[in-house]
Amino acid sequence: MAKYVFVTGGVTSSLGKGIISSALAKLLQSRGLKVTIQKFDPYINVDPGTLNPYEHGECFVTEDGAETDLDLGHYERFLNTPTSQANNVTTGRIYQTVINKERAGDYLGKTVQVIPHITDEIKRRMTLLGNANQYDVVITEIGGTVGDIESLPYLEAIRQLTRELGVHDSLRIHLTLIPYLSAASELKTKPTQHSVKELLQTGIQPDVLVCRTEKPLTKEIRSKLALFCNVNKNSVIEAIDAESIYDVPLLMLKEKLDTIVLSKLKLKSKHDPKLDNWKEFLGRLKNPTEQVNIALIGKYNELQDAYKSILESFVHAGAENECKVNIVSIHSESLERGEVLSKLKNLHGVLIAPGFGERGTEGKIEAIKVVREKGIPFFGICLGLQMAVIEFARNVLDLKNATSEEIKPRAKDKVIHLMPDQIKIKKKGGTMRLGAYDCDLKKGSLASKIYQSNSVNERHRHRYEINNAYLKQLAKAGMIASGINPQTKLVEIMELEEHPFFIGVQFHPELKSTVEKPHPLFVHFVKAAKSYKHEKA
Ligand code: GLN
Repeated sequence: MAKYVFVTGGVTSSLGKGIISSALAKLLQSRGLKVTIQKFDPYINVDPGTLNPYEHGECFVTEDGAETDLDLGHYERFLNTPTSQANNVTTGRIYQTVINKERAGDYLGKTVQVIPHITDEIKRRMTLLGNANQYDVVITEIGGTVGDIESLPYLEAIRQLTRELGVHDSLRIHLTLIPYLSAASELKTKPTQHSVKELLQTGIQPDVLVCRTEKPLTKEIRSKLALFCNVNKNSVIEAIDAESIYDVPLLMLKEKLDTIVLSKLKLKSKHDPKLDNWKEFLGRLKNPTEQVNIALIGKYNELQDAYKSILESFVHAGAENECKVNIVSIHSESLERGEVLSKLKNLHGVLIAPGFGERGTEGKIEAIKVVREKGIPFFGICLGLQMAVIEFARNVLDLKNATSEEIKPRAKDKVIHLMPDQIKIKKKGGTMRLGAYDCDLKKGSLASKIYQSNSVNERHRHRYEINNAYLKQLAKAGMIASGINPQTKLVEIMELEEHPFFIGVQFHPELKSTVEKPHPLFVHFVKAAKSYKHEKA
């Protein structure tokens, strides 16, 4: 039987519930326990796939093709184990299931209500992974902040489960903020007291308080919080601002979060925490021997979270190379105003980000022309690959109007076109080509050298693809398809033969990079940026 940990947040959003959950999971995993983390999001979209990145940050895609919350990316990066559709549930999905059952007549004769029907469905999903007999501990993170109207059914479900599971089988962690008032030179506990009161009104008594703070918590503050919030003194955990999210497991270890959880759940650790690899990674991360500047060209640059997995992949790849990667964020639209050369100065590599729609695409194409001609290392992901093919078709094959069907549906030279199985699809939710597919690598290509393999498996999220009718022309001029899906013949990777490092991929390698397994494409891209820097110097 799995044990359950529920993580709620109070006072404000963005306190890092995902990181705290991941850090706790990492510590339990390092003690030999099998752990998974799931996220319950209180919004009505069935999944975040239909949300603009400005609304909700990046959409993370799992192996099984689920479009999920970006916190699942943290879970995978910390634990180095894949998640699935079952790890992310939204209010929309819960209601959809209940309404479908109602239409099927499953509740015939009954009034269908939030309690018990919605809460029953929440509880069923909360215990789904735990019931599969695969995990010792299931950590459930509840999105949003306590006090939001929309999280109420989730809190009610936790209250019910707390009774049903028994005292030692579940535990509640409340993550909260202890603000520092500089005018009074004091840390303030009142917002936390109110937040815990709010939680108590729903019938939930937290067992552990994890307190985000800029300054260390004094003994007095810990005692005060314990007294007013009705928790043990040792269960008031300090979560001080960290230099890197990857420091958090070690900070939580110091605060004994893992041992408190284990003792409350009456769980035995299999061995002492084994964190050697993690510590080695941190050592490399914090002691770089050099640095490179890499441009991230996209159109959602205003929001850090829009490219979360890409940024984290650079952290992993940087550490692997003992090199600090300075990401220079460049808005693709700004490149359309003719500032390409000046903006690309002092850069050692350029990554063109994934994206949708026409906005900013011409800027991306302009930038690719410069990096192709100047031999600057280039890495294109999904839309980034598609733009590289358009640039090459226009400027090398001389197909002046080459474009993508996504941009100009009626153009003549659509070097990027809609995938055949997408043509009839009208609905937007969950209908892209999603999840993991195989890709065979061409012998002797840059891709096969990077992966050290003949075949790989990567995750996807797209509707358009390279038009195979142009492959021969492209290859003749030096742009070759080095990765192909063996079943559909869809092009997965393109590269330039006469360039030190120019590679574009239709899939999303950033979704598979973890602390323990940095993605080889990112590792080699950073390596190429280092070489470029040395050669230029
Ligand atoms: N918009 C492009 C497509 O649908 C690229 C998608 C992406 O970058 N994820 O094919």
